[in-house]
Amino acid sequence: MTDDRRFVARHVAALPKSGIRDFFAIVSQMRDAVSLGIGEPDFVTPFHIREAAMAALEKGRTSYTDNRGLLSLREEIGRYVARHYGPEYRPDDEILVTIGVSEALDILLRAVLNPGDKVLYHEPCYVSYAPSVALCHAEAIPVRTADTDAFSLDPEALRAAWRPGCKVLILNFPTNPTGGTADRAKLEAIARFAVEKDLLVASDEIYSELTFEGDHVSIASLPGMRERTVFLHGFSKAFAMTGFRVGYACGPAGVIDGMLKVHQYAIMCAPIASQEAAVEALRNGRDAMLHMRDKYRERRDFIVRRLNAHGLPCHLPRGAFYAFPRVDVTGLDSMAFAQGLLREEKVAIVPGTAFGQAGAGFCRASFSTSYERINEAMDRLGRYLDRLRAR
Ligand code: PLP
Repeated sequence: MTDDRRFVARHVAALPKSGIRDFFAIVSQMRDAVSLGIGEPDFVTPFHIREAAMAALEKGRTSYTDNRGLLSLREEIGRYVARHYGPEYRPDDEILVTIGVSEALDILLRAVLNPGDKVLYHEPCYVSYAPSVALCHAEAIPVRTADTDAFSLDPEALRAAWRPGCKVLILNFPTNPTGGTADRAKLEAIARFAVEKDLLVASDEIYSELTFEGDHVSIASLPGMRERTVFLHGFSKAFAMTGFRVGYACGPAGVIDGMLKVHQYAIMCAPIASQEAAVEALRNGRDAMLHMRDKYRERRDFIVRRLNAHGLPCHLPRGAFYAFPRVDVTGLDSMAFAQGLLREEKVAIVPGTAFGQAGAGFCRASFSTSYERINEAMDRLGRYLDRLRAR
């Protein structure tokens, strides 16, 4: 350990680095690599949205905004959420604009968790959940989901994982990395459990517009849930706006007020030009968004067909833009499989264990890249598998 590391707090030193970043540092140095590893849209933000940001800058809109975000944006968010998800939120005190869902989740956890509190979440899951909980000196309790259930969350498994001291339940439907969703009946059972155990639900719905099978239902819209749910959403995925760094939280005023305190001391506000772009996305971005969703659906059907044809069992992801095939049928674990594929065929996918132990035996292949690149990656994968089988 070098000397200056002694300044780093124990709970921070104990955090693992994101498994994905390490992997892709290697990929970025490789010539002719095909990456199915990236968790962001390959589309550039639609022009009219970029233009709104440019117009804001041209007009000299370069200041801080209200800590809660521009009122015009909060009003649009209120209308958008009511129209597409159901619950109505007051722009004045129930909506907070953040630096993406990343910040929204972080400040929510920091606002509500006391040291030692417990947080339930389903796994495999987005890489930041467990570290964000650990940064609050709280305890993360994963609940396994499985491919036999298309990686939905079984309410009975949730009940079995619960322990005294659980305060928050993080949900993410559709799920990164599995594309799992939860239908209304399942959400109702989860909601009943949340009420019974007095849990606050943090519902990360960042992929909700990218739902390919059935309608997306927000748990916040179910009876008795609005008052115990914080709805987290943003612009990164559906509107291809990752670089704008803007998202939002909608929830009961008392919780949003707690989040606002953390937000105003740590962040102040989201960048004004990004907020102006977000207003434009909500007002006029739906057609472009639906077009991108249709493209993802075509690519999903293609990649899942090719993976299964190659003998890697892959369920049909119902949302988001990730395929999550089983790779342990080859006799290799996730990491060995992904490393071999990268070394031998220069195709980058992410080992399932980057998303928690429940991801062991799987890998994540993103289909947020062109059809041609997916096709090339699948050809290379076929060659790799042929070689593995011949060994
Ligand atoms: N939540 C999930 C499930 C994600 O997959 C991601 C990004 O990959 C985020 C949150 C972060 O999103 P944002 O860009 O809004 O911070």
